[in-house]
Amino acid sequence: MGVEKCATLEVRRGRIQETRQTTPLMNQMTIPNLNKHDSYKYLGINQALEIRTSEMKELFKQKLYKRVSLLLKSKLNFKSLFTAINIWAVPSITYSFGVLTWSVTELREIDRGLRTMLTRYGVHHPHSSTIRLYLPRQHGGRGLLNLESVHERDIISLRAYFLGDNSPFFSAIREADDRLSPLRLSESSHQDTRRPQEGLIEEWRSKALHGRYPGLLESRDVNKVESLTYLRAGYLFPETEGRLLAIQDQVMQTRMYLKHIAQQNIPTDRCRKCSQRPESIQHLTSSCPILAPKDYLGRHNSMAKIYHQQMALKLGLIQDELQQHLYVPKALLQNATYNMYWDGTLVTDRAVAHNRPDITLFDKVRKTCLLIEFTIPADDNITRAYSEKVTKYTDLAFQLRKMYALESVSVLPMIISVNGMVERHLIENTQRLCLDKDIISASQKQDNSEGSARTVAAASAVTIRPAVADYFPYYFLFCSSMD
Ligand SMILES: [Zn+2]
Repeated sequence: MGVEKCATLEVRRGRIQETRQTTPLMNQMTIPNLNKHDSYKYLGINQALEIRTSEMKELFKQKLYKRVSLLLKSKLNFKSLFTAINIWAVPSITYSFGVLTWSVTELREIDRGLRTMLTRYGVHHPHSSTIRLYLPRQHGGRGLLNLESVHERDIISLRAYFLGDNSPFFSAIREADDRLSPLRLSESSHQDTRRPQEGLIEEWRSKALHGRYPGLLESRDVNKVESLTYLRAGYLFPETEGRLLAIQDQVMQTRMYLKHIAQQNIPTDRCRKCSQRPESIQHLTSSCPILAPKDYLGRHNSMAKIYHQQMALKLGLIQDELQQHLYVPKALLQNATYNMYWDGTLVTDRAVAHNRPDITLFDKVRKTCLLIEFTIPADDNITRAYSEKVTKYTDLAFQLRKMYALESVSVLPMIISVNGMVERHLIENTQRLCLDKDIISASQKQDNSEGSARTVAAASAVTIRPAVADYFPYYFLFCSSMD
């Protein structure tokens, strides 16, 4: 019978009686009595005469916060962190859904509490899109479960279970549940208050700042699936992803943001690095003349180097693969079939304005040549970047073809935007080089996502309020070094 798990509670006319006695059984065994302030745990819920609702809610809430806090300290990568929150932390509270009565206000409050915790650990920028946090990753969101909608889903499915059985037992339960449980089984209908996902995506897209990124993601020239690889793969550190998404959401503390969005009284919105143009995210990530020589070139070269090494391996021009950061491309690699130039100037009979593509590959057997150019433009310049590159090298292609009597010369622009958006030709151009599609996510990782986060963070770090400095610890370092 499991006597040690039993207790008795004495109730007279609906009132719990204070008794010190135990209830004796046979064989000198006794069952302890519950006194007025004790409760008994049944299926994980503390109860006495009735469920101790407010006490229980507090316990469930604390358990959830505790688990999330443990996870945030655990240094998991992004995807693992969010998966763990969803499958280990959130169920600790959703277990009570349908048993304890939670109001929408209470659930929103807890959701807000969780967001604050994410912010404290740099995972979610306080001004980043909240809608995006809860959208699935294949739609560009971060895939966190939202308690309010999980609650609604659970209530609906529990109701369906109890309403779907017509046995006398279930009928009796339904009849008895007159506002007794959160399921309200005696009421025949239930209004589903959840918002459909399409509506949420629509709302995200319609926001002035937050909506810019999802809007561009749907553009004809962007390969959406490939552009979101880093979100699906989740290899970034949570803080890095948080920062990157804040850039995409356009909420980084640039001077443009501070002056025009946050309406702060700062003397100018000009760039802290070059003082020439307004300091916007677009300016910092792709068009500041001071950042260009070092930061942008570094980003560009690391993408080009990834392709260079993989092509050289594939074509048998080198044998051993090096770690990316150790790889230095040779100016010329050759074998019986191929000549591959890195950043080489190509001399032609008639001079042309642009004659130095990032990679030039001659196929001496088939008599063909590929001019490969890499570029990392601002998100909105992705379309223009492609046609510009093609136009830029048309003259060179024409001259080379004539000089060497080649069968064909092609220009292959390889484009990923500063926010990791993959230009639609990149896949076919990569396949044309007989390289694996995985190389794209490697490039995205190396050059754009983390690179941009670093560039923007470093560039816009000069005057930051303490709260933001807390949020981006290395901003703070940068601030002090700038002073
Ligand atoms: Zn600038």
